[in-house]
Amino acid sequence: PASSAVRTRFAPSPTGYLHLGGARTALFCWAFARHHNGVFVLRIEDTDLARSTPEAVQAILDGMAWLGMQPDEGPFYQMQRMDRYREVIAQMLEAGTAYHCYSSPEDVEVMRAKARAEGRKPRYDGTWRPEPGKTLPPVPEGRKPVVRFRNPQEGATGWHDIIKGPITIDNAELDDLVIARPDGTPTYNFCVVVDDWDMGITHVIRGDDHVNNTPRQINILRALGATIPEYGHLPMILGPDGEKLSKRHGAVSIMEYDTAGYLPEAMVNYLARLGWSHGNDELFTREQLVQWFDTHSLTKSAAQWDPKKLNWVNAHY
Ligand code: GLU
Repeated sequence: PASSAVRTRFAPSPTGYLHLGGARTALFCWAFARHHNGVFVLRIEDTDLARSTPEAVQAILDGMAWLGMQPDEGPFYQMQRMDRYREVIAQMLEAGTAYHCYSSPEDVEVMRAKARAEGRKPRYDGTWRPEPGKTLPPVPEGRKPVVRFRNPQEGATGWHDIIKGPITIDNAELDDLVIARPDGTPTYNFCVVVDDWDMGITHVIRGDDHVNNTPRQINILRALGATIPEYGHLPMILGPDGEKLSKRHGAVSIMEYDTAGYLPEAMVNYLARLGWSHGNDELFTREQLVQWFDTHSLTKSAAQWDPKKLNWVNAHY
């Protein structure tokens, strides 16, 4: 049945070229969807207006086309979905799973400092969180509120990460996340949640720099009554020196490899091996990757970029 079909998404922020880490994430999302005859969605997370550019969107589309990863749905652009985010925020305010908070950024800083001084986690102190029988302070004149998610305060939030195994966070450690700014624009974590929900995403595979966002996103999904997807967080790619892969290790933009004459099939082959192990086959085709791909063989430890191996694959492909 269509409702149980696998649906993955690649959700890049178009703030630069498609880099190797992003291309690898996309490749795993694509291969996993293809392996299960599922759907691969492309979502452009362009809400950071200061850093998002049309050139970067094009670079992402070019890189994906070059590697042969066509999305089945999308690209969807978050900037075109603002009405939808506002609608969900209004529903949450109505349902009481979110509330207006009139604390200023300075007020919040004072709360955090106080918590830190008392040896607690720096967090918003719940001044504006409605509780039965509680009287809220008077609304400061002329101040526009943010909207905060009413995060559960008791218990813990956990998931069984496809790659990292079980992860659990105490809800007491999570702030009441700001989901809309004073001007009404939704924040990043909130847009992701609404999109994953609306797009029926079943498996979120992304970089492990997002592990801290996951419990927050799960709690919001729960408040919305949404099905919680599976999550898998990929360890980062390291350079040959063991440092986080960056420009000083050479080309990090996928399209630079096209320019340099590398075969896209060799690139796919090599990228797949950065974090996914499969037998001893050194060379395989895109079709074999799809056929063999499984999340059990995604590795927990960071992968190391090795230009010599890439060159070997490229020369023998
Ligand atoms: N837009 C995010 C990024 O580029 C990815 C968010 C996600 O996959 O949930 O890192």
